[in-house]
Amino acid sequence: MKRTTGHDRSVTATWRPATQAVRGGTLRSEFGETSEAIFLTSGYAYDNAGEAAARFRGDAPGMTYSRLQNPTNLMLEERLCLLEGAEAARVTATGMAAMSTALMSHLSAGDHLVAGRALFGSCRVLVDTILPRFGIETTTVDGRDTEAWAKARRPNTRAFFLETPSNPGLDLVDIAAVADLGHDGGATVFVDNAFASPVLQRPLDFGADVVLYSATKHMDGQGRVLAGAVLGSAAWINDTYLAMARHTGPVLSAFNAWVVLKSLETLDLRVRRACDNAFAVARALDGRVDRLLYPGLPSHPQHDLAMRQMAAGGTIVALFVADRAEAHALLDALALIDISNNLGDSRSLMTHPASTTHASVVEAVRDEMGITEGMLRLSVGLEDPADLIADLDHALGSIGR
Ligand SMILES: *Cc1c(COP(=O)(O)O)cnc(C)c1O
Repeated sequence: MKRTTGHDRSVTATWRPATQAVRGGTLRSEFGETSEAIFLTSGYAYDNAGEAAARFRGDAPGMTYSRLQNPTNLMLEERLCLLEGAEAARVTATGMAAMSTALMSHLSAGDHLVAGRALFGSCRVLVDTILPRFGIETTTVDGRDTEAWAKARRPNTRAFFLETPSNPGLDLVDIAAVADLGHDGGATVFVDNAFASPVLQRPLDFGADVVLYSATKHMDGQGRVLAGAVLGSAAWINDTYLAMARHTGPVLSAFNAWVVLKSLETLDLRVRRACDNAFAVARALDGRVDRLLYPGLPSHPQHDLAMRQMAAGGTIVALFVADRAEAHALLDALALIDISNNLGDSRSLMTHPASTTHASVVEAVRDEMGITEGMLRLSVGLEDPADLIADLDHALGSIGR
């Protein structure tokens, strides 16, 4: 393997993000291939026994087993580090593998975690149900309220966990303010950045310590593979995250790493275009529904923070109609936009969170998160926005709006 300039940070760190997304992290085999190779190998062979022993001791460079290292995964990890401004990264089989392994590697029985209450459904289950089973105390707060984070801190608080913008309610958390509060109390600050992607928001720049991704969303962005990523300091990744992940094995398959690696080449183009489309759709729908939330519109209660923290308003729009029957009728009247619970895809997708993604979250918690029976989440894709608006216009007309 040749370490091309793609792995020389004295060169790559000076590149702009769109260049990093195309070239960062590239390694080349002796064939000099232009496109990154897929290394579907579980293990590695050694020239002699001494070499094997040295690699296992960590005294010689080189890989030993794909649960621990793989060249295709390494290319993706390095590219993600460059896009995020992180020292180190590990890619995982899914976003939830990233979230659960990161938090469980960091926390032990007797520790306390504070989390923003507006979280992806499975993240909420992790915080409310799974971590407490292992003796980890958890508190959820209204993440928009910076004071609430300060009040929830205890002497044993070792982690803050937040998502911004949140799924599906589009609540924002002031990352810089909350990170300061976390650090004052000795907590490590974890941010689930799946909704924004590194194109729109880089939490480490605002003081967060660990950034977590579902790469299933904007990073693949074409509805093909599940993937996740954990990014942070080299010390945290090596000493804390890998101390668990090396032995529990949440690693991404090299094939899926390759798919995401290729997708990153167009991440900047795709996310920016989808944001433009989402903005156009949000403007067209505003006033046609009971309520509409889009961080890029001045009507969003945290619009100022969105503009401070994000490069654009994002790709997701939340709309509210009267109730579940009306929400389902609107979905059923769509002809172009798919009814689907995925997001961050090149296809526009709409879902009814209360009966799908957040159905396993108890109703009281759904209420707290602003997920009403009439809420719909629209993930805007790359189709012509005029076609999307026409489809929505027709569906809204069919329910009498
Ligand atoms: C989808 C998603 C996850 C979970 O990721 P998977 O790849 O589905 O495991 C976590 N957080 C957010 C915000 C998500 O949108």
